[in-house]
Amino acid sequence: MVQITCYGGVSEIGGNKVLLEDDQARFLFDFGTAFGRYRNFFNEYLRPRPSRGLLDPLSLGLLPPLKGLYRDDLTPPNLWKRFQNLSFYREMERQGAPAVDAVLVSHAHLDHNGDLAYLDPAIPIGCTRATAFIARAMQLAGRSDFDQEVSFVSLRAWNDREQALKGQSGSPRQIRACIFLDGLPEGEADPWWKSSLPASQTTLLHPQVGFQGRIAGHEVRWWPVDHSIPGAAAFALQTSAGWVAYSGDLRFHGQHGQGMERVVQEMADLKPAVLIGEGTYLEDTPPLSEAEVAEAAGRLIRGAAGRLVVADFAPRNVERLQTFLRLAGALGRQLLIQPKDALLLEALSLADPCAFPDPLTFPHLALYADPKSAPRKWEQDVRKRWQARTVAPQHVSAGPGDYILCFSLWDANDLLDLEGIADGLYLYSNSRAYDEEQAVDLERLRNWVGHVGLRLEGDPDDPKAARLHSSGHASGPQLLDFVQRVHPQMFIPIHTEQPEWWEKKLAGSGIQVVRPEVGRPIVL
Ligand SMILES: [Zn+2]
Repeated sequence: MVQITCYGGVSEIGGNKVLLEDDQARFLFDFGTAFGRYRNFFNEYLRPRPSRGLLDPLSLGLLPPLKGLYRDDLTPPNLWKRFQNLSFYREMERQGAPAVDAVLVSHAHLDHNGDLAYLDPAIPIGCTRATAFIARAMQLAGRSDFDQEVSFVSLRAWNDREQALKGQSGSPRQIRACIFLDGLPEGEADPWWKSSLPASQTTLLHPQVGFQGRIAGHEVRWWPVDHSIPGAAAFALQTSAGWVAYSGDLRFHGQHGQGMERVVQEMADLKPAVLIGEGTYLEDTPPLSEAEVAEAAGRLIRGAAGRLVVADFAPRNVERLQTFLRLAGALGRQLLIQPKDALLLEALSLADPCAFPDPLTFPHLALYADPKSAPRKWEQDVRKRWQARTVAPQHVSAGPGDYILCFSLWDANDLLDLEGIADGLYLYSNSRAYDEEQAVDLERLRNWVGHVGLRLEGDPDDPKAARLHSSGHASGPQLLDFVQRVHPQMFIPIHTEQPEWWEKKLAGSGIQVVRPEVGRPIVL
């Protein structure tokens, strides 16, 4: 029997957790954080308690009650007794094998991979090298909390006396099992993947399996797709009820838009029984292309000769970084990136050196190093490697017109180190605010920008402002065309707030739309 159960991404954008079962075989498509629901309970300061492990996210319904799926070391004694009466509680343990054969992770945005942090590290993560390496770089440069352990885990132990889970310094670390869909890391990438963990005598390594097209006896296809992060993929898995395809997040108007035609055709050739697909942005207006963003930003930067330009874009939007890098080269400026950006570019050049050459070979790229008393180990290493390519605040103050500085709200304090930047430009190259918290942050950003005398461009709330952002998602008509051309027998809309939109649009198309419900299996 084949069944599909959605535990996240149901009438919400992100948090995708889709379980596909074919008899004994089990697969997950993504295991992301549902930020909408997460923010109903938590913020930056109020967070799940490490000492309670799985208790907080399970109690709040942020993780499905699937016993056997999660890290043993995050499971306090008697945890599952509390959840046994929940309607979709299940015992998933299997003798001699992890509870799931693989989690196919579409890309390294946290709404698709964030909750991997809680999963049993023996469950193999199937993804592209770029996705795996981005996740590693993010974890190395991020907070070292237990709920950030997407790529490797620091094992905890239950402390009987204190009745709490504890991570001790020097506790064993374990890399999550990984199936690299596009081949094993080679050359320098191999030792980086295995040993770029913080020094630990007891690092455990899982064997990495080269992808051979089958997982747990099931044929798997994957395609690179166009999205606002490198390494994004769509999947299809052969089951006894036919092919089940999963779109991940996608668009047709970015750098890899042209490759999408092949994806559509090959997916359609499988004549899938089911397509599980995203519907983030169902508007009719065609999204701005990356080329249009480059043109608008270029015009503004050209008009700001001799003055500082700040570029603010999403941290993993490498395509946008490349856009600003090209503009910097063309307009005689240097693009100054943050240490975490440098680490990300280094990781990508290890994962995929053809697509991402060594960032230290780009003449218009340099590291912005603000004074810090004690940078963390990863940052010290980055600063060392980029020593000859480092620009300090005093250099920017001395010649603000020579630079495009990559900053965001989280770097706003550092604007105070700079002098002579009044009348410069702050290019806001991000999406509009989607919730109250983001709206407050945007207001805070306006305050900072105004305070230091920069001119804000690209404000998404100002209808007259230049448009400086290209969405990571296709428009409604584009997605509809995609689904109609793939033409599955059944379409399951996820990662959307409007599943009913699909029922209306696909009525009479011969494609059955099945709206998922959390925890309720859809039997094929
Ligand atoms: Zn997403």
